[in-house]
Amino acid sequence: MVTGVDGPNKVEYRGEISMGELLDRYEVILLDSYGVLIHQHGPLPGALALVGTMNAVDKRYFILTNDASRSPDAASRRYNSLGLAIPPGRVITSGSLIAPYFAAKALQGARCIVLGPEDSVRYVAEAGGEVIPAVDEADPEVVAVCDESGFPFLETVDAVLTAVFRRLDAGKPLHLLLPNPDLIFPRGERSYGLTAGSIAMVLEAAMALRYPSGDYPRFVPLGKPHPPIFEEALRRGGSRKMVMIGDQLSTDIRGARDFGIDSALVPTGLTHIGGGGLGDVYPTYVLPTLVRGR
Ligand SMILES: [Mg+2]
Repeated sequence: MVTGVDGPNKVEYRGEISMGELLDRYEVILLDSYGVLIHQHGPLPGALALVGTMNAVDKRYFILTNDASRSPDAASRRYNSLGLAIPPGRVITSGSLIAPYFAAKALQGARCIVLGPEDSVRYVAEAGGEVIPAVDEADPEVVAVCDESGFPFLETVDAVLTAVFRRLDAGKPLHLLLPNPDLIFPRGERSYGLTAGSIAMVLEAAMALRYPSGDYPRFVPLGKPHPPIFEEALRRGGSRKMVMIGDQLSTDIRGARDFGIDSALVPTGLTHIGGGGLGDVYPTYVLPTLVRGR
């Protein structure tokens, strides 16, 4: 099914595997959500049975999602409404990495502009940030770009740009935080949208124009493919014998490789498997279906 396996990672690709084998071989199963367990029409084939099995045998598993727009509780409620009995404790969102980041950088009490809906604001507030409105006159110590929704887009991004320039022009330090580094997302069948990573990219391009010396802060990403979300999975899972099941090479699969764990690519999401091969990032396995016994 995968052809053209001749990239630099050739030796590490081990072929197709079944869900049953993955459950036997790995102590901890990490799953991406969209494109793996669910899609725009609901759960994908095999997802309900897989979650049911893992719950029944008390398998350690976690959903790793770059979503920073809803809490683990809200994510769990949504999964349950689709028939997936995934408790909040099994959901690791990129938003839930904000609190450890604030603790590590001693940012409690810092004035923060947050882009995103209610739950994004709550993540930052619960991390100890003092959330301030995104207006031209704001003097933020942190700008957290969590999500593209929940605010009037252009006027908010313009205000953030203005506040960022004023702060940097004054020579003051600024933390830029990007829980969800995704650039695009599938809005539906054959329709797509920009997300938080694209906003951060625009702001960085604007800073590059204004500060040609390169002396300006960069966004710190927390979600896949970056290490913090995998470190949190390791902390909670307690074993490096983890496999990441995902549909995107650039986030799920690259992130797993960079973190030093195995990965399995499913054909139900954004990555088109087949034809001319997969480029230079290869998964450890291809998992043709979540349905066990196939
Ligand atoms: Mg996905």
